[in-house]
Amino acid sequence: MLQQTQVATVKDYYNRWMKRWPTVQDVAAATIEEVNQMWAGLGYYSRGRRLHEGAQKVVLELEGQMPQTVDDLLKQLPGVGRYTASAIGSIALGQVTGAVDGNVIRVLCRLRAIGADSTSPAVTEALWHLANLLVDPERPGDFNQAMMELGARVCTPKGPLCSQCPVQSHCRSYHRVGSLQRSRF
Ligand code: SF4
Repeated sequence: MLQQTQVATVKDYYNRWMKRWPTVQDVAAATIEEVNQMWAGLGYYSRGRRLHEGAQKVVLELEGQMPQTVDDLLKQLPGVGRYTASAIGSIALGQVTGAVDGNVIRVLCRLRAIGADSTSPAVTEALWHLANLLVDPERPGDFNQAMMELGARVCTPKGPLCSQCPVQSHCRSYHRVGSLQRSRF
């Protein structure tokens, strides 16, 4: 629900959904019309359809058991891509993997002063590699959520709050801008 949509908008939808369909079996038993009705107004309807398809697959083909690894999430659930599998894997299942979303891309590029096109396949792979190296093996889910929050609240696209940033001392962009400013005076 949160893909491309803000928490404030999602909250009511999420609460209504969970009240009506608290388990994966409940979602699987719903009709697609009911799912679409519940989703009405949230946009990106394919998300609801995929969620429904995924629930049906779990119930009908996987004996009601959610896949338990990032690889299985990716392979077995329709609509689950690399980021979603890694986010679920690290946050819900404690799997040691980075999770790279738009916010994390920005944070990592600034931390390592990467100026190359972050949408290119080579840079994308390098960022995943970096995220996998940096993730805390003891608390991968907390680490990934902290990186996402850092990007959403502190290392924002415009006007990042560097003076409040907990990783300022590790940030190459911050140090480069500082050196440039000092060299001008
Ligand atoms: S110091 Fe500034 S640019 Fe660097 S990660 Fe923190 S907020 Fe982002």
